[in-house]
Amino acid sequence: MANTTTPEKMLCAFLPGDHTAALGTRPVPVPGHGEVLLRMKASTICGSDIRCIYHEHLGKGPEGYQPGIIAGHEPCGQIVKTGPGCRRFRENDRVIVYHISGCGVCNDCRRGYMISCTSEKYRRAYGWQRDGGMAEYLLAEEKDLVSLPDSLTYADGAQVACGFGTVYEGLEKIGVSGNDAVLVTGLGPVGLASATLCRKLGARQILGVEFLDERIQIARKLHLDGRPLFDHVLKSAPENLEQILALTNHNGVERAVECSANATARNLALRATRKWGKMVMLGEGGSMSLNPSPDMLHDQKTLVGSWVTSIWKMEELVERLVHWNLHPDILITHRFPLEKVGDAYALMASGKCGKVAVCFDEELK
Ligand SMILES: [Zn+2]
Ligand SMILES: [Zn+2]
Repeated sequence: MANTTTPEKMLCAFLPGDHTAALGTRPVPVPGHGEVLLRMKASTICGSDIRCIYHEHLGKGPEGYQPGIIAGHEPCGQIVKTGPGCRRFRENDRVIVYHISGCGVCNDCRRGYMISCTSEKYRRAYGWQRDGGMAEYLLAEEKDLVSLPDSLTYADGAQVACGFGTVYEGLEKIGVSGNDAVLVTGLGPVGLASATLCRKLGARQILGVEFLDERIQIARKLHLDGRPLFDHVLKSAPENLEQILALTNHNGVERAVECSANATARNLALRATRKWGKMVMLGEGGSMSLNPSPDMLHDQKTLVGSWVTSIWKMEELVERLVHWNLHPDILITHRFPLEKVGDAYALMASGKCGKVAVCFDEELK
Protein backbone atom coordinates (compact mmCIF):
# COMPACT_ATOMS: atom_id res chain seq x y z
CA MET A 1 0.00 0.00 0.00
CA ALA A 2 1.01 3.56 -0.63
CA ASN A 3 1.54 4.41 3.04
CA THR A 4 4.36 1.92 3.47
CA THR A 5 6.35 3.87 0.87
CA THR A 6 5.78 7.32 2.38
CA PRO A 7 9.22 8.81 3.04
CA GLU A 8 10.19 10.74 6.17
CA LYS A 9 11.13 13.97 4.41
CA MET A 10 9.56 15.85 1.54
CA LEU A 11 10.49 18.61 -0.86
CA CYS A 12 8.38 21.75 -0.54
CA ALA A 13 8.29 25.40 -1.66
CA PHE A 14 7.88 28.75 0.11
CA LEU A 15 7.33 32.30 -1.08
CA PRO A 16 9.76 34.63 0.71
CA GLY A 17 8.11 37.72 -0.84
CA ASP A 18 11.04 38.86 -2.96
CA HIS A 19 9.88 37.75 -6.45
CA THR A 20 11.25 34.23 -5.90
CA ALA A 21 10.08 30.81 -4.77
CA ALA A 22 12.40 28.91 -2.42
CA LEU A 23 12.72 25.15 -2.09
CA GLY A 24 13.18 23.40 1.24
CA THR A 25 12.57 20.11 3.00
CA ARG A 26 10.17 19.27 5.82
CA PRO A 27 9.20 16.11 7.63
CA VAL A 28 6.23 14.40 5.97
CA PRO A 29 3.29 15.15 8.30
CA VAL A 30 1.37 12.42 10.12
CA PRO A 31 -2.42 12.80 9.95
CA GLY A 32 -4.16 13.32 13.27
CA HIS A 33 -7.83 12.93 14.12
CA GLY A 34 -10.07 13.77 11.14
CA GLU A 35 -7.05 14.49 8.94
CA VAL A 36 -5.65 12.86 5.81
CA LEU A 37 -2.25 12.84 4.14
CA LEU A 38 -2.35 13.44 0.38
CA ARG A 39 0.27 12.58 -2.18
CA MET A 40 0.19 15.78 -4.21
CA LYS A 41 -0.56 15.37 -7.92
CA ALA A 42 -1.34 18.86 -9.20
CA SER A 43 -0.99 22.30 -7.62
CA THR A 44 -1.94 25.27 -9.77
CA ILE A 45 -0.82 28.86 -9.24
CA CYS A 46 -3.43 31.53 -8.62
CA GLY A 47 -3.36 35.24 -9.43
CA SER A 48 -3.79 35.91 -5.70
CA ASP A 49 -0.48 34.18 -4.97
CA ILE A 50 1.24 36.68 -7.24
CA ARG A 51 -0.78 39.71 -6.12
CA CYS A 52 -0.50 39.16 -2.35
CA ILE A 53 2.56 36.98 -1.72
CA TYR A 54 5.09 36.49 -4.50
CA HIS A 55 6.37 40.04 -5.03
CA GLU A 56 5.83 41.17 -1.47
CA HIS A 57 3.80 39.91 1.47
CA LEU A 58 1.01 42.45 1.00
CA GLY A 59 -2.02 40.54 2.15
CA LYS A 60 -3.70 41.12 5.47
CA GLY A 61 -6.23 39.03 7.42
CA PRO A 62 -7.50 36.19 5.20
CA GLU A 63 -4.87 37.12 2.60
CA GLY A 64 -2.03 37.33 5.10
CA TYR A 65 0.66 34.80 4.16
CA GLN A 66 2.51 33.48 7.17
CA PRO A 67 6.23 33.28 6.32
CA GLY A 68 7.49 29.70 6.35
CA ILE A 69 4.14 28.26 5.30
CA ILE A 70 4.29 25.93 2.29
CA ALA A 71 2.72 27.79 -0.65
CA GLY A 72 -0.09 26.70 -2.97
CA HIS A 73 -3.84 26.93 -2.38
CA GLU A 74 -5.10 24.95 -5.38
CA PRO A 75 -4.13 21.39 -4.41
CA CYS A 76 -5.39 18.11 -5.76
CA GLY A 77 -4.05 14.67 -4.87
CA GLN A 78 -4.55 11.14 -3.67
CA ILE A 79 -4.98 10.03 -0.08
CA VAL A 80 -2.09 7.88 1.14
CA LYS A 81 -2.95 7.84 4.83
CA THR A 82 -6.01 8.63 6.95
CA GLY A 83 -5.92 9.64 10.57
CA PRO A 84 -8.26 8.21 13.20
CA GLY A 85 -11.90 9.26 13.02
CA CYS A 86 -12.19 9.81 9.24
CA ARG A 87 -15.79 9.20 8.26
CA ARG A 88 -15.97 9.14 4.46
CA PHE A 89 -12.63 9.21 2.66
CA ARG A 90 -10.18 6.32 2.45
CA GLU A 91 -6.68 5.56 1.25
CA ASN A 92 -6.27 5.81 -2.53
CA ASP A 93 -9.27 8.17 -2.91
CA ARG A 94 -8.67 10.99 -5.39
CA VAL A 95 -9.64 14.32 -3.84
CA ILE A 96 -9.87 18.07 -4.35
CA VAL A 97 -9.21 20.33 -1.36
CA TYR A 98 -11.48 23.29 -0.63
CA HIS A 99 -8.73 25.79 -0.10
CA ILE A 100 -9.79 27.30 3.20
CA SER A 101 -10.16 25.25 6.33
CA GLY A 102 -12.79 26.86 8.53
CA CYS A 103 -13.90 26.29 12.11
CA GLY A 104 -16.87 24.29 10.85
CA VAL A 105 -19.35 25.74 13.33
CA CYS A 106 -19.76 29.47 12.57
CA ASN A 107 -22.65 30.63 10.37
CA ASP A 108 -20.48 31.00 7.26
CA CYS A 109 -18.93 27.55 7.69
CA ARG A 110 -22.40 26.07 8.16
CA ARG A 111 -23.38 27.61 4.82
CA GLY A 112 -20.30 25.95 3.31
CA TYR A 113 -18.50 29.25 2.76
CA MET A 114 -15.37 28.55 4.77
CA ILE A 115 -13.79 31.39 2.81
CA SER A 116 -15.75 33.71 5.12
CA CYS A 117 -15.25 31.75 8.36
CA THR A 118 -15.39 34.22 11.23
CA SER A 119 -13.16 32.31 13.62
CA GLU A 120 -9.83 34.06 13.94
CA LYS A 121 -8.35 31.03 15.59
CA TYR A 122 -9.53 28.26 13.28
CA ARG A 123 -9.86 29.87 9.82
CA ARG A 124 -6.70 28.92 7.98
CA ALA A 125 -6.26 28.89 4.21
CA TYR A 126 -4.04 26.25 2.65
CA GLY A 127 -0.93 27.94 1.28
CA TRP A 128 -1.52 31.08 3.36
CA GLN A 129 -1.88 30.25 7.04
CA ARG A 130 -1.47 26.46 6.86
CA ASP A 131 0.74 24.37 4.61
CA GLY A 132 -0.41 24.17 0.99
CA GLY A 133 0.07 22.12 -2.13
CA MET A 134 3.54 23.08 -3.31
CA ALA A 135 5.03 19.99 -1.66
CA GLU A 136 5.23 16.27 -2.25
CA TYR A 137 2.64 15.67 0.48
CA LEU A 138 -0.14 17.72 2.03
CA LEU A 139 -1.91 17.37 5.36
CA ALA A 140 -5.62 18.19 4.91
CA GLU A 141 -8.76 17.99 7.00
CA GLU A 142 -11.28 15.42 5.81
CA LYS A 143 -14.10 17.98 6.04
CA ASP A 144 -12.32 20.12 3.39
CA LEU A 145 -12.29 17.36 0.75
CA VAL A 146 -14.42 16.87 -2.34
CA SER A 147 -14.25 13.60 -4.24
CA LEU A 148 -12.58 13.78 -7.66
CA PRO A 149 -14.41 11.57 -10.20
CA ASP A 150 -12.30 9.16 -12.26
CA SER A 151 -13.14 10.96 -15.50
CA LEU A 152 -11.44 14.15 -14.29
CA THR A 153 -7.67 14.54 -14.02
CA TYR A 154 -5.89 15.88 -10.95
CA ALA A 155 -5.01 18.97 -12.98
CA ASP A 156 -8.74 19.42 -13.63
CA GLY A 157 -9.40 19.05 -9.92
CA ALA A 158 -6.75 21.56 -8.86
CA GLN A 159 -8.67 24.29 -10.66
CA VAL A 160 -12.07 23.50 -9.25
CA ALA A 161 -11.91 25.11 -5.82
CA CYS A 162 -10.41 28.52 -6.38
CA GLY A 163 -10.56 29.17 -10.14
CA PHE A 164 -13.56 27.42 -11.67
CA GLY A 165 -15.44 27.36 -8.38
CA THR A 166 -15.13 31.12 -8.03
CA VAL A 167 -16.38 31.59 -11.58
CA TYR A 168 -19.21 29.10 -11.18
CA GLU A 169 -20.44 30.90 -8.07
CA GLY A 170 -20.35 34.27 -9.84
CA LEU A 171 -22.21 32.94 -12.89
CA GLU A 172 -24.85 31.32 -10.68
CA LYS A 173 -25.40 34.69 -9.01
CA ILE A 174 -26.11 36.52 -12.29
CA GLY A 175 -27.57 33.51 -14.14
CA VAL A 176 -26.30 32.72 -17.65
CA SER A 177 -28.39 31.02 -20.32
CA GLY A 178 -28.88 30.78 -24.06
CA ASN A 179 -30.53 34.22 -24.02
CA ASP A 180 -27.29 35.91 -23.18
CA ALA A 181 -24.42 37.61 -24.91
CA VAL A 182 -21.64 37.68 -22.31
CA LEU A 183 -18.69 40.03 -22.03
CA VAL A 184 -15.62 38.80 -20.13
CA THR A 185 -13.04 41.45 -19.19
CA GLY A 186 -9.56 40.20 -18.26
CA LEU A 187 -8.58 36.94 -19.99
CA GLY A 188 -6.23 35.39 -17.45
CA PRO A 189 -7.18 31.96 -16.08
CA VAL A 190 -10.33 33.26 -14.35
CA GLY A 191 -11.55 35.00 -17.51
CA LEU A 192 -10.89 31.90 -19.60
CA ALA A 193 -12.70 29.73 -17.05
CA SER A 194 -15.63 32.18 -17.23
CA ALA A 195 -15.85 31.75 -20.99
CA THR A 196 -15.72 27.94 -20.83
CA LEU A 197 -18.48 27.74 -18.21
CA CYS A 198 -20.59 30.32 -20.11
CA ARG A 199 -20.29 28.16 -23.24
CA LYS A 200 -21.47 25.10 -21.35
CA LEU A 201 -24.34 27.12 -19.85
CA GLY A 202 -25.35 27.90 -23.42
CA ALA A 203 -24.36 31.57 -23.78
CA ARG A 204 -25.32 32.75 -27.26
CA GLN A 205 -22.31 34.99 -27.81
CA ILE A 206 -19.06 35.43 -25.84
CA LEU A 207 -16.90 38.51 -26.15
CA GLY A 208 -13.56 39.00 -24.42
CA VAL A 209 -11.41 42.06 -23.74
CA GLU A 210 -7.76 41.76 -22.75
CA PHE A 211 -4.71 43.99 -22.61
CA LEU A 212 -1.78 41.54 -22.90
CA ASP A 213 -1.03 40.24 -26.41
CA GLU A 214 0.07 36.81 -25.13
CA ARG A 215 -3.25 36.34 -23.39
CA ILE A 216 -5.16 37.54 -26.46
CA GLN A 217 -3.40 34.90 -28.52
CA ILE A 218 -4.14 32.14 -26.01
CA ALA A 219 -7.80 33.18 -25.83
CA ARG A 220 -8.16 33.25 -29.62
CA LYS A 221 -6.64 29.78 -29.98
CA LEU A 222 -8.85 28.06 -27.41
CA HIS A 223 -11.65 25.88 -28.75
CA LEU A 224 -14.42 24.06 -26.96
CA ASP A 225 -16.61 21.39 -28.56
CA GLY A 226 -15.25 22.22 -31.99
CA ARG A 227 -15.92 25.95 -31.91
CA PRO A 228 -13.81 28.89 -30.79
CA LEU A 229 -14.19 29.63 -27.09
CA PHE A 230 -14.75 33.33 -27.80
CA ASP A 231 -16.77 34.77 -30.67
CA HIS A 232 -14.56 37.87 -30.52
CA VAL A 233 -11.47 38.78 -28.51
CA LEU A 234 -10.81 42.53 -28.45
CA LYS A 235 -7.58 44.22 -27.49
CA SER A 236 -8.13 46.81 -24.72
CA ALA A 237 -8.69 50.18 -26.37
CA PRO A 238 -10.75 53.35 -25.89
CA GLU A 239 -13.14 52.23 -28.65
CA ASN A 240 -14.06 48.93 -26.92
CA LEU A 241 -17.54 50.13 -25.94
CA GLU A 242 -18.40 51.10 -29.54
CA GLN A 243 -16.98 47.77 -30.76
CA ILE A 244 -19.10 45.79 -28.30
CA LEU A 245 -22.24 47.76 -29.20
CA ALA A 246 -21.56 47.13 -32.88
CA LEU A 247 -21.23 43.39 -32.21
CA THR A 248 -24.46 43.22 -30.19
CA ASN A 249 -26.96 44.99 -32.41
CA HIS A 250 -26.33 48.19 -30.41
CA ASN A 251 -27.87 46.63 -27.31
CA GLY A 252 -24.83 45.75 -25.27
CA VAL A 253 -24.47 42.41 -23.47
CA GLU A 254 -27.00 40.76 -21.18
CA ARG A 255 -24.26 39.61 -18.81
CA ALA A 256 -20.75 40.82 -17.96
CA VAL A 257 -18.07 39.01 -15.96
CA GLU A 258 -15.30 41.29 -14.72
CA CYS A 259 -12.06 39.41 -14.05
CA SER A 260 -9.36 42.04 -14.59
CA ALA A 261 -9.63 44.26 -11.48
CA ASN A 262 -8.69 47.11 -13.81
CA ALA A 263 -10.69 50.33 -13.30
CA THR A 264 -11.12 51.01 -17.03
CA ALA A 265 -12.23 47.44 -17.71
CA ARG A 266 -14.70 47.61 -14.82
CA ASN A 267 -16.26 50.74 -16.29
CA LEU A 268 -16.33 49.18 -19.72
CA ALA A 269 -18.07 46.06 -18.43
CA LEU A 270 -20.70 48.09 -16.60
CA ARG A 271 -21.37 50.39 -19.56
CA ALA A 272 -21.41 47.54 -22.06
CA THR A 273 -24.09 45.78 -19.99
CA ARG A 274 -27.48 46.48 -21.54
CA LYS A 275 -30.64 47.67 -19.82
CA TRP A 276 -31.84 45.15 -17.21
CA GLY A 277 -28.51 43.34 -17.59
CA LYS A 278 -26.36 41.91 -14.81
CA MET A 279 -22.67 42.12 -14.09
CA VAL A 280 -20.55 40.19 -11.60
CA MET A 281 -17.20 41.35 -10.26
CA LEU A 282 -14.63 38.60 -9.67
CA GLY A 283 -11.31 40.41 -10.20
CA GLU A 284 -9.67 41.19 -6.86
CA GLY A 285 -8.11 44.48 -5.76
CA GLY A 286 -7.94 47.88 -7.42
CA SER A 287 -10.76 50.39 -7.48
CA MET A 288 -13.45 51.81 -9.74
CA SER A 289 -15.45 54.98 -10.05
CA LEU A 290 -19.00 55.05 -11.31
CA ASN A 291 -21.83 57.47 -11.84
CA PRO A 292 -24.69 55.51 -10.31
CA SER A 293 -27.58 57.18 -12.16
CA PRO A 294 -26.42 56.86 -15.78
CA ASP A 295 -24.25 53.77 -15.23
CA MET A 296 -26.70 51.66 -13.22
CA LEU A 297 -29.96 53.11 -11.91
CA HIS A 298 -31.53 54.49 -15.06
CA ASP A 299 -30.80 51.30 -16.98
CA GLN A 300 -32.02 49.02 -14.18
CA LYS A 301 -28.71 47.17 -13.98
CA THR A 302 -27.61 44.71 -11.32
CA LEU A 303 -23.99 44.71 -10.13
CA VAL A 304 -22.95 41.89 -7.82
CA GLY A 305 -19.74 40.96 -6.09
CA SER A 306 -18.75 37.37 -5.55
CA TRP A 307 -15.98 35.75 -3.53
CA VAL A 308 -14.93 32.13 -4.00
CA THR A 309 -17.68 29.55 -3.48
CA SER A 310 -19.15 27.09 -1.03
CA ILE A 311 -18.05 23.50 -0.69
CA TRP A 312 -21.46 22.16 -1.80
CA LYS A 313 -21.45 24.31 -4.90
CA MET A 314 -17.96 23.01 -5.58
CA GLU A 315 -19.34 19.46 -5.42
CA GLU A 316 -22.15 20.48 -7.76
CA LEU A 317 -19.63 21.98 -10.19
CA VAL A 318 -17.61 18.73 -10.18
CA GLU A 319 -20.78 16.82 -11.06
CA ARG A 320 -21.53 19.23 -13.91
CA LEU A 321 -17.98 19.10 -15.26
CA VAL A 322 -18.49 15.35 -15.69
CA HIS A 323 -21.89 15.80 -17.42
CA TRP A 324 -20.50 18.51 -19.66
CA ASN A 325 -17.29 16.58 -20.40
CA LEU A 326 -15.49 19.81 -19.54
CA HIS A 327 -11.85 19.54 -18.50
CA PRO A 328 -10.51 22.63 -16.74
CA ASP A 329 -6.99 21.44 -17.57
CA ILE A 330 -7.46 22.75 -21.14
CA LEU A 331 -6.51 26.13 -19.67
CA ILE A 332 -3.12 24.92 -18.43
CA THR A 333 -0.44 26.15 -20.80
CA HIS A 334 2.61 25.18 -18.73
CA ARG A 335 3.47 22.34 -16.33
CA PHE A 336 6.55 22.27 -14.10
CA PRO A 337 8.01 19.74 -11.67
CA LEU A 338 8.28 20.95 -8.06
CA GLU A 339 12.06 21.30 -8.50
CA LYS A 340 11.35 24.11 -11.00
CA VAL A 341 8.71 25.88 -8.93
CA GLY A 342 10.68 29.16 -9.21
CA ASP A 343 10.24 29.15 -12.98
CA ALA A 344 6.54 28.36 -12.57
CA TYR A 345 5.86 31.40 -10.34
CA ALA A 346 8.04 33.67 -12.48
CA LEU A 347 6.05 32.73 -15.58
CA MET A 348 2.73 33.28 -13.81
CA ALA A 349 3.97 36.65 -12.56
CA SER A 350 4.80 37.66 -16.14
CA GLY A 351 1.19 37.02 -17.16
CA LYS A 352 2.42 35.57 -20.44
CA CYS A 353 0.63 32.27 -19.99
CA GLY A 354 -2.66 30.58 -19.31
CA LYS A 355 -2.84 28.55 -16.13
CA VAL A 356 0.50 27.37 -14.68
CA ALA A 357 0.68 24.09 -12.76
CA VAL A 358 3.23 22.33 -10.61
CA CYS A 359 2.64 18.62 -11.23
CA PHE A 360 3.71 15.24 -9.90
CA ASP A 361 3.78 11.65 -11.15
CA GLU A 362 1.27 10.94 -13.95
CA GLU A 363 0.25 14.61 -14.18
CA LEU A 364 3.73 15.69 -15.23
CA LYS A 365 3.35 15.17 -18.92
ZN1 LIG B 1 -6.81 31.40 -5.68
ZN1 LIG C 1 -16.14 29.06 10.67
